[in-house]
Amino acid sequence: MISTRMENLHPYVPGEQPSDKLYIKLNANENAYGPCNGVVSAVCDFVRAHPQKLSLYPDPDSTLLRNAVAAMLNRTGGVLSRAQWNGAQCTPSKQDALPFAVTPDMIYCGNGSDEVLSFLFYAFFDSSVRLVLPEFTYSFYPVYAGFYNIPLDVVPLHGDLRLNVQEMAARAQSAHSGMIFANPNAPTGRALLRNEVRTMLQNANSDKAFVVDEAYVDFGGESCIALLKEFPNLIIVRTFSKSMSGAGLRLGYIVASPEIIKTVTTVKNSLNHFPIDAIAQVAGVAACENDAYYCSCAKKICAEREKFSAFLRMRGWDVVPSSANFVFARKKGVAGKAAYEMIKAHGILVRHFATKGIEEYIRITIGTPDQMAALCNIMETM
Ligand SMILES: *Cc1c(COP(=O)(O)O)cnc(C)c1O
Repeated sequence: MISTRMENLHPYVPGEQPSDKLYIKLNANENAYGPCNGVVSAVCDFVRAHPQKLSLYPDPDSTLLRNAVAAMLNRTGGVLSRAQWNGAQCTPSKQDALPFAVTPDMIYCGNGSDEVLSFLFYAFFDSSVRLVLPEFTYSFYPVYAGFYNIPLDVVPLHGDLRLNVQEMAARAQSAHSGMIFANPNAPTGRALLRNEVRTMLQNANSDKAFVVDEAYVDFGGESCIALLKEFPNLIIVRTFSKSMSGAGLRLGYIVASPEIIKTVTTVKNSLNHFPIDAIAQVAGVAACENDAYYCSCAKKICAEREKFSAFLRMRGWDVVPSSANFVFARKKGVAGKAAYEMIKAHGILVRHFATKGIEEYIRITIGTPDQMAALCNIMETM
């Protein structure tokens, strides 16, 4: 009864989402700060003023949302933690200012970046491709590779968990090689500079898709959106789940050339015509319009991350320098699993990976100052 395809499925295991006990959740990189009032009132007003819209299909192309995302990227330069509020709107820092305006035809919106990634894998990679990716990265990539039967070309990280840029670029020279990695990477938190990615792109085969997942870039990385006009094979994936406090909304998007957006839209229209519900579209537009709020949250999270990293280092932890909303850390003599269990016993969830090579580490999402103070209290004795 079961198809042979099923043999290639190795499903992703998400961070725990407990419903029975009240834990402080620092295990799934969700945003500790809730959505802003503007989002809450936009959703309530929409449902109250237009209840009949819940019985109609939503806009299949998310037109208003794509307009709002493009405008938000242009205002912020694509990195919230460095954008400035000038009293009327956000403006990008010098480092992030884009050399061109992002237009709505460069945006595709989907049901979480996980769905967006699935459509990209379907559209651009198949069994003839060798997909270059780092050994430790977002664990959904190998899951999709199994789902779509795409061979992997796994590149080990350097000892300090930096991506091996030279080796990845060398392997991506082959005519069959596609590329995917997260920048900043997960679960390490390490980021590549835009110029390092540019060098990789210059060396990589330009006929295959080169995907950069910027799920965490708002917390201090450098966005590669600025490189899109130079490299037509570059595809950038982003999400509302981390910096935009929207994990429950399921909103992710692609920034790429209009041709790539058309191709992904063809995939969508062959699989799930209406991936984003009407309420999520309204919430997403309001979130983009309130970018100033999310900028201030991102800045607070970055400040807390630096404080917490210093706390851990003072106590002998080896902390990977992070450009994300989490830190990845280990301590000699403390097993990762034991640290996770001990912290959990005190009511806080962090993430531990059983994967060989990173099993000594725990990954801790940066929460509010109160949440981090509670965690520091627990870790004081470890
Ligand atoms: C969280 C995460 C995603 C998934 O985001 P969703 O939009 O919630 O599906 C994608 N990539 C990376 C690297 C992530 O950490």
